[in-house]
Amino acid sequence: MPEVAKEMEVPKRILLGPGPSNVHPRVLKAMSMPLIGHLDPEFLKIMDQTMELLRTVFQTKNRLTIPVSGTGSAGMEAAFVNFIEEGDKVIVAINGVFGERVADLLRRLKAQITEVRAEWGRPIDVSRIEEELKKDRFKAVAIVHAETSTGVLQPIEGLGKLAKENGALFIVDTVTSLGGVPVKVDEWMIDVSYSGTQKCLSCPPGISPFTVNERAIEVMKGRKTKIPSWYFDLTMIEKYWGSERVYHHTAPISMIYALREALRLIIEEGLEARFKRHFENYKFLSEKLGEIGINYLVEEKYRLPSLNSVLIPAGVNDKDVRKRLLDQYDIEIGGGLGVLGGKIWRIGLMGYSSNKDNINLLVNALKDILKK
Ligand SMILES: *Cc1c(COP(=O)(O)O)cnc(C)c1O
Repeated sequence: MPEVAKEMEVPKRILLGPGPSNVHPRVLKAMSMPLIGHLDPEFLKIMDQTMELLRTVFQTKNRLTIPVSGTGSAGMEAAFVNFIEEGDKVIVAINGVFGERVADLLRRLKAQITEVRAEWGRPIDVSRIEEELKKDRFKAVAIVHAETSTGVLQPIEGLGKLAKENGALFIVDTVTSLGGVPVKVDEWMIDVSYSGTQKCLSCPPGISPFTVNERAIEVMKGRKTKIPSWYFDLTMIEKYWGSERVYHHTAPISMIYALREALRLIIEEGLEARFKRHFENYKFLSEKLGEIGINYLVEEKYRLPSLNSVLIPAGVNDKDVRKRLLDQYDIEIGGGLGVLGGKIWRIGLMGYSSNKDNINLLVNALKDILKK
């Protein structure tokens, strides 16, 4: 047998980077269940149950709450192609990689964007969005709730109401917040939100939890132009996930098994208990890192418990430390992106990965490496 055809070997890693996070064995087990047809009545039940569980986690009653096929970026694409048309005015908050990605996507859709920026590592000043909303009529306000590139948790309460009063949709990226910190879609008047599975939901990457309310669906149905994407056209996806069950594309069956199990684990733990665990473990990590002289990039008030961005101590080689962590300790953490490259480490404490044992292992490993 040629070398390449031998059985795969995959190391066991402790995943403490910006995603993916470690996956619970029960989720892996769910993925290995036998395949059934995607229109099999038993699978349709699983689809409905997954929607129901997703509504609980998103804290919404939105009928159209589904996993979009594709990773978090697919959810992002779906959140804009369906609602934004050429020439539409959109306010985009940008303070990291994912805000930039949203702006890139909107430019491709030929939207007219108004950028509200903040330095990477700082939150967006919400009053500046309010000022912009008063100046003009906008189709939407887009913001990232948890900026994974910087570790900022953006305060967004109140923005939904403001957007609505000014006739704009409120579109929120909850990829690294859902399942790690509170995300209250209905209470916060979020019209459209997309998330990812491999961050705080601790499920492999491949589908994107997505929710949209009736107000946004009205906007979509009132479009002047055809939705430019076939794959992410919600008017068709809606008929597949709704009672009509009209075939659009084949749902990634095993991924939906996995998501259903990951969501079930969240319900078992309880949303509040889960948020508390994420917060307490972030606190524990910050204390431990403080003891070895490692400080945070982000002001305490805006820190994201699921993604800890810390300053690399002076004189320390970023890549060398991360390589040693991986090779000698089987621990993955992330480096900085863009302007923060070489300046920060990004330590994810997401879902199943967020526990004290992992934190102790990481901090002890860092101590050893930094001593040398
Ligand atoms: C990871 C991430 C995405 C993109 O998700 P992919 O699964 O990598 O496509 C989008 N937004 C935020 C905030 C993210 O952290």
